Amino acid sequence: MGTGTCQIEKDRMASSILIEVDAVRVVFDFGRGISQRIYEFSLKQDDIQHIVISHFHPDHISDLIPFLHAGLYSPDDLRSKDLNIYGPSGIREKIGLVLDIVGPQSIANARFKVNIHEITDKRFSINNLEFEFIRLSHENNSGLRFVHDGKVYAFTGDIAFDEKEINFLKDSDCAVLNVGGLKDENIIDIAFLTQVKTIVCSHLYRDLDEDRLNSMAKKKGYIGRIVIGKDLMRWTDIR
Ligand SMILES: [Zn+2]
Repeated sequence: MGTGTCQIEKDRMASSILIEVDAVRVVFDFGRGISQRIYEFSLKQDDIQHIVISHFHPDHISDLIPFLHAGLYSPDDLRSKDLNIYGPSGIREKIGLVLDIVGPQSIANARFKVNIHEITDKRFSINNLEFEFIRLSHENNSGLRFVHDGKVYAFTGDIAFDEKEINFLKDSDCAVLNVGGLKDENIIDIAFLTQVKTIVCSHLYRDLDEDRLNSMAKKKGYIGRIVIGKDLMRWTDIR
């Protein structure tokens, strides 16, 4: 849904992914502008029942405030179904702060509950879809991985260029890489070392040159392809 960062700009909201697999719908990360993107996908409050947070930087969590506030007060789209929020240890305290801002009284009297799931194990499931939630290097950040139709999907949250990230991504079919401050050379090295079939670059602070990245990665021995992410891009359109 979003491919940007904390940087405020017109065409990129904070990095976020909408996962729709069979009857399971999950939003991975919920920073600036994601409530708006959900609306642009014609989804209603009650369509979103599961949110996974990679870590607690504002660009991954901040839009929970307008989203919950709208669910409580927006006459057009009041929430009636429970909202489940999953994240690393500390999530209870952080979501507590969010709920405090939205209004403890309003939440207590709401027609729905907010259930917080602290993922201390490396696995959890939502309606039979199994997720791996793997602690990575960058500041309590966890990556999300799942298998569907024999294909492996891996999403990084934020990224650090190190062995943990490489192992997390290795040989997956589709990875959304939150490249953040990585240099082109680092992205190319990640592509080569992981051999992910399709890498979608997200969490972009700057414009990346897709052709240049692909030709340099190919020279190095990478056999997949690198795609520069755009907001509202769909996997079904690019795969
Ligand atoms: Zn971030």
